[in-house]
Amino acid sequence: MRRFKGALSGEKSKRLRIKCLTVDRIPPPADPALWPGATIRAGSAKDVSTASGEQLATLLDIRHHCVPDLFGAQGTVYPLRMESCAAQTRRIEMVPQRPTALKNRACVYCGAMLSASNISREHVIGRRFVPKGKLHRQWNLILNACQRCNSRKAALEDDISAITLQPDAWGRYGHDDMDAMEEARRKANDARSRRTRKAVKDSGEGINIRGSLGPGINISFQFSCPPQIDDERAFELARLQLMAFFYMQTYSHETRCGGYWLHGYHPVMAAIRSDWGNALMKGFMQTIEPWDCRFLAISADGFFKLITRKHPSAETWAWALEWNYNHRLIGFFGELEPAQAIFDSLPKLTARTVYQAPNESLSYRRDAALNEDEDTLFSVFEETEQSEA
Ligand SMILES: [Zn+2]
Repeated sequence: MRRFKGALSGEKSKRLRIKCLTVDRIPPPADPALWPGATIRAGSAKDVSTASGEQLATLLDIRHHCVPDLFGAQGTVYPLRMESCAAQTRRIEMVPQRPTALKNRACVYCGAMLSASNISREHVIGRRFVPKGKLHRQWNLILNACQRCNSRKAALEDDISAITLQPDAWGRYGHDDMDAMEEARRKANDARSRRTRKAVKDSGEGINIRGSLGPGINISFQFSCPPQIDDERAFELARLQLMAFFYMQTYSHETRCGGYWLHGYHPVMAAIRSDWGNALMKGFMQTIEPWDCRFLAISADGFFKLITRKHPSAETWAWALEWNYNHRLIGFFGELEPAQAIFDSLPKLTARTVYQAPNESLSYRRDAALNEDEDTLFSVFEETEQSEA
C-alpha cells in the first residue's frame, strides 16, 4: 500500500528532490467507536470524527508543551501541560532518565484494537536505531502497537540506522563517539540496504561520466556518495515517530487513547549533515523559529532529536528530526494550505546542469554545511525563565 501521493513539486536528480507530499489522514474505521483517535478527552469526550474544524482547533490547541531542554537538568521532572477548551489540565510526567510508558488499548500506528494475540511493546526511539546502550537511563516513549506495525517499523529502522551511522563521503562523523563509530562498522557489514539490496558497506553509489571535448581531449568525472536512503522510506519512519509523539501529547489516561492529527503529512526535505545549511533547510529553520514549541526531545546522547512547533494561526505544525548526527528531516503536518504557502515562500534549490542528452542529464548542487553557531533548529529559548537580575 502506498501511503504517499502526489508530489507537489520536484526535480529529477535523486539528491535534489524537494518533495511536499501529502497523505490521507489516518483511515477512519467503519465504526468510529473503535477508532482510538475518535475521542480526545477535553472536559467531556468529543467525537473528533464529527467535530467541526473549529471545534477541532480548540480540542487540539494544546498549549505550553514546551520542554525546554528535556535532558538538561539532572532529576528534574518537566510537566507536559495539556490545556483544553474546558481548561482541564492534564499532565504527563516526563523524567529525563526514564521512559514515558503508555498503556494504550489500540495500536498507536494503525488504530487496530489490541489483544493478547497481536499486542507488542513498542519503543518509539528504536533501541537499535541509535547506537547500542545510548538509551540506557535516557528518555524514550514506550507504548503498545500491533505486531504488524511494530515489525514494519523495525524493518525501516534496520538499514536507516545502519546508513545514518556511517561517515560522510569524506569519512567524517558528526560526533566523536568511538563506540558509535565501532557500531557503524559492524552494522555496515550486518545490515542490508533496501535500496541496493547489498550490505550497507557495499552500498556506496557513484556516477561515472566519460566524454570527449574534441579530438584527443577526453574527460572523465566520477561522483561518489555514501550509502543512501530513499526519501520515501525515511519520511515513512519519520511519520511513525511523529504520530507516536503526537499520540502521547494527546493521550488520556482515563480512556487509554491518544489522538491523531488531521488533514495530512507534508514532508519537505531530508538532508545529510554536509547539506544542513542549504537555502531551503535554513529558510525553514528561520521561518519556524518564532513559532510556539510544542515538543522538544533530545535523547540517546543526542543521537535522536525531535522538535515540533505550532503555526501561529493554523492547524499546522512544523517538525524536524535528526537521526544519529547525520540525517535531518523537515516538514509539516496538519492543514496543507498554510504549509504549502510557507513552502512556496522558501528559497528554491537550484541545480546546475552539466550534461544533457535526449534521454539523460546530470545536474549538481553543492552541499551547504550549516555553521554550528547558526544552528537553531533544536534550540528553544524560554521567555518565562529569564532571570530578573
Ligand atoms: Zn498497527
